Amino acid sequence: MTIIEHIIGGQNTPGASGETQNVYNPATGEAIHQVVLGAEAEINAAVRAAKDAFPAWSGTSPAKRAAIMFALRGVMTRRADEIARTISAEHGKTHDDALGEVARALEVVEYACGIPDKLKGDFSREVGPGIDTCAERQALGVVAGITPFNFPAMVPLWMIPMALACGNTFVLKPSERDPSSANLIYDLFREAGLPDGVLNVVHGGKQAVDAVIAHPNIQAISFVGSTPIAHYIYSNGCAAGKRVQALGGAKNHMIILPDADIDQAADALMGAGFGSAGERCMAISVAVPVGEETANRLVEKLTPMVRALKIGPSTDTDAEMGPVITKEAKDRIENLISAGEGEGAEVLVDGRGYNLQGYEGGFWVGGTLLDRVTEDMTVYKQEIFGPVLSVLRADSYDTAVELINKHQYGNGTAIFTRDGDAARDFAKRIQVGMVGINVPIPVPVGYHSFGGWKQSIFGAHGIYGPEAIHFYTRLKTVTSRWPTGIRSGAEFTFPSMG
Ligand code: NAD
Repeated sequence: MTIIEHIIGGQNTPGASGETQNVYNPATGEAIHQVVLGAEAEINAAVRAAKDAFPAWSGTSPAKRAAIMFALRGVMTRRADEIARTISAEHGKTHDDALGEVARALEVVEYACGIPDKLKGDFSREVGPGIDTCAERQALGVVAGITPFNFPAMVPLWMIPMALACGNTFVLKPSERDPSSANLIYDLFREAGLPDGVLNVVHGGKQAVDAVIAHPNIQAISFVGSTPIAHYIYSNGCAAGKRVQALGGAKNHMIILPDADIDQAADALMGAGFGSAGERCMAISVAVPVGEETANRLVEKLTPMVRALKIGPSTDTDAEMGPVITKEAKDRIENLISAGEGEGAEVLVDGRGYNLQGYEGGFWVGGTLLDRVTEDMTVYKQEIFGPVLSVLRADSYDTAVELINKHQYGNGTAIFTRDGDAARDFAKRIQVGMVGINVPIPVPVGYHSFGGWKQSIFGAHGIYGPEAIHFYTRLKTVTSRWPTGIRSGAEFTFPSMG
């Protein structure tokens, strides 16, 4: 069984903790690797390496840093298939879905290629007599990223290219459930020419995370994962004086108005609800048809489609979705379906107890469709993060909007309609960070930024794009006057530049 090690200062190392954890193939349920679990000693070593690498890296010209991102783009494009296979082997998503993950990660790398332009700063001449002001953004130092299992390549690559392009050095603490992608990302950067110590990978769980929060030389933390952990990292990281962005969980609704193209809406719900087995923070998990007639038409379309979902391992090119990540995740999802049933939801398609011939040990949950879900049900209030689509029938457009605005999460949402007025009103009024109009998964492209509202994010900045430049740099403003030989005498009033 392969041991997945840390990578610190350019060297693979098992670390000092001696602790390991199994990594599974979720399609078979077999342990395929072991990952070492680091703690304080490993984080200390990684931060030391990153701190040592910082002066040279931050002093490298932005154009040279961009050249490495450009080389990385070439390496990733050439090795896209290998990256996708590495993702799928431990996550379970289909190969095409994993290729989509690589494509979205590439957008961030491409944006980072333009860093010299983004960092070029501002200059104002003659802000006062003989006085000029320039403003520049400087790198923070050593920054850390803590990432979830569901996008083991894309989410680290939401962070690393932008942090490095801005001149920082990086410590990545990836998910311990599918850790191989992180080491592969390191390898891609190394092939692109990144110097040792600029990027370091420390594997582990809570102990490693707590060491990141406590380390005085880590200036900033980017976190993506569930809301309770996001809140924990945000509050403790801020209390430790760090800059923190912490993106959390989601419950994404899609409103279907009576004038929507129902076939198109049903197709969109299938992809957005069941793609990647619903393990996406931008998955649509609640369909909100407006009016009984719309709801009946939608449910009639969706029921056979959910029954016909093609479920299989990532190696099956016909599969539309794979297994969920662990046995614990499977049990949690099935328990939530039972809770929904117990609270009165109608189980139109039941994915509990799903078994795939030849893969009996895998962590499978079949596509599940719940109708007549109501606001008070656990299945509605909690993030399920599995292949479960709830239908919550709303009697009016206003009720539907109010429902979304009341929900604790505000990551993504969508509306399907042909009515421009309604769509425009929706975009304006909805209390959610990423909005789709007839687009079910409105993940912003790499030159915009990603981020939800409410309990889906803690911190002022979204991730990647222009927001990342602000997060990974701090502003310095220099006001200068050169001696002219003319004395104006001491001034005791507050300088007005007039
Ligand atoms: P998770 O919160 O369990 O884990 C995320 C990271 O936190 C991992 O690196 C893990 O090792 C660490 N961690 C876990 N428990 C911890 C603890 N007690 N103390 C300190 N650190 C801990 O999340 P996950 O299950 O890996 O990922 C799924 C979640 O991530 C979902 O809630 C999903 O919505 C969310 N997510 C959000 C976004 C977004 O952009 N908002 C994107 C992807 C995933």
